[in-house]
Amino acid sequence: MSEKLFCTYCGNESTDDSEFCGKCGNLFINDVQCINHSERDATGVCTICLQAYCKKCGLRVNNIFLCDEHSSYEIVEGMARVFGSPDEALVNYIKSCLENEGLHPFIYNRKATPMHLGGSDHSLFRAAGDSQNVIINEIKLVVPCSEVPEAEKIIKEIENQSE
Ligand SMILES: [Zn+2]
Ligand SMILES: [Zn+2]
Ligand SMILES: [Zn+2]
Repeated sequence: MSEKLFCTYCGNESTDDSEFCGKCGNLFINDVQCINHSERDATGVCTICLQAYCKKCGLRVNNIFLCDEHSSYEIVEGMARVFGSPDEALVNYIKSCLENEGLHPFIYNRKATPMHLGGSDHSLFRAAGDSQNVIINEIKLVVPCSEVPEAEKIIKEIENQSE
């Protein structure tokens, strides 16, 4: 039986045999080296590729640790955008494909989601990296960060089939 443990960074509940927080990438153990720099201590675990990185190779984006390669993903409430389109039927189709593969996709439809939070709309969909590439009027398909590599593989297959 493992004990419960709460992440000191985000408060997410983990078990005490976890090595890092699956929600924010906070490391629970010491003496982990960066995958790129064996001489440097890692500061966090990328929540998408689940590798440990030093502060040169990774950063926190909206309180979630991501490696350089994944830091440009849009993170919406702890989930990462893997697909977006103004075509709702298409987004629903991709969602059902991901569900069939056992993933946990979620649709963010900006138009159908009233803002309760106050402040600017923009904050809800703030891009992790370069905000200039954000398409505002798209319906976004997001998945838990750790499912991104699998989801992208499936989406690529769907796109290849439709060509
Ligand atoms: Zn955490
Ligand atoms: Zn990564
Ligand atoms: Zn590094």
